[in-house]
Amino acid sequence: MAKSEESEVLIPWLKAISLDHKRAPPSVHLAIDRLIQVISSNRIAIADWNRSGSVWNRKSILRCIVDFFDPLLLEVIPVDSLVWIQLRLEGAPLPLSTHLKSKVNIVKFADNLKRAIQVLEGDSSISGEDWKIIVIQGESLSAVAAILYAISCTLPNETPHWCSACFRRANGFRKYCRLHKPSDVTANDTAYRKAIKLQKSLPQEVLCAWAAYRFNRTHLEESFELISGVEDETSFYFSKGVVTSSLLKSVVEKTMVLPWYVVSQEWDDLLNDFQHVSSLLARSPVDFKGWNEFSAYLLKVLNDIDEETTHPFWILNIICCADEWLKAEKEAVDGRKNRYL
Ligand SMILES: [Zn+2]
Repeated sequence: MAKSEESEVLIPWLKAISLDHKRAPPSVHLAIDRLIQVISSNRIAIADWNRSGSVWNRKSILRCIVDFFDPLLLEVIPVDSLVWIQLRLEGAPLPLSTHLKSKVNIVKFADNLKRAIQVLEGDSSISGEDWKIIVIQGESLSAVAAILYAISCTLPNETPHWCSACFRRANGFRKYCRLHKPSDVTANDTAYRKAIKLQKSLPQEVLCAWAAYRFNRTHLEESFELISGVEDETSFYFSKGVVTSSLLKSVVEKTMVLPWYVVSQEWDDLLNDFQHVSSLLARSPVDFKGWNEFSAYLLKVLNDIDEETTHPFWILNIICCADEWLKAEKEAVDGRKNRYL
């Protein structure tokens, strides 16, 4: 069988990763060699994970990574080590099998691995033997992160699906979110029917804004530049970009690079413009330890449980869409009440 285009790209990339991580223990290099072997033999699918663990009767490459790297990472990084603790703090606890579910998850997880290593490498209080151990453990994780970035570039794109009625994401390829899924076409599904009716009542400009967001999200995924003002115009032609206001661009960019205690107040201020979303929040952004914790809380409160993004710009878009939906829901309820006054 001829080698796929993806494997032609991946194999030299994996060899380069092995060379770049000379300080990693021999077990890491052996695992990379094994990965190269199975890719060369064409016995695995360079495709996303599925629940059965195999894709088109071939094992997914993600399954191989879990099989090859989980046992060795558990050996290299003991459960009471500083690296293990730091990984938990970054929201990336081992084993790998809990993280490698989708392309978006892979990149996010690799980012968290890199951050954990950077935090420990920047800690001047660690020295002597402890430092030597951290270097070896960090190099192992850095190699895994590099492999995951490489794999994510070769996996086919995932197309997100949204509920056909509301602003929420639908699970997998389903047509409706969990709140509005019709259980039986013959049943009187109140939530489903109300949602369809409400969707039809939304103003045209709201539906256009939702469509624009979904188009951008599908095409730009998690990697793009925000463009505002003339100074950014040239980059618009050379990169994946999306136009926004300078205020939102500033908040999003700060959220991505600055500590949460510096930017959380700006999110507090921003949420004042979205009274319907704000009214659902029992805690304000400043009450959270970090962005990941706040964005997870927000999605939970909005019942958008199949949404997986943590990108601040997409979360902002979700807030805009949700606010319009919640406003329409409130107006429908008020309208019904007024009829009985
Ligand atoms: Zn829905």
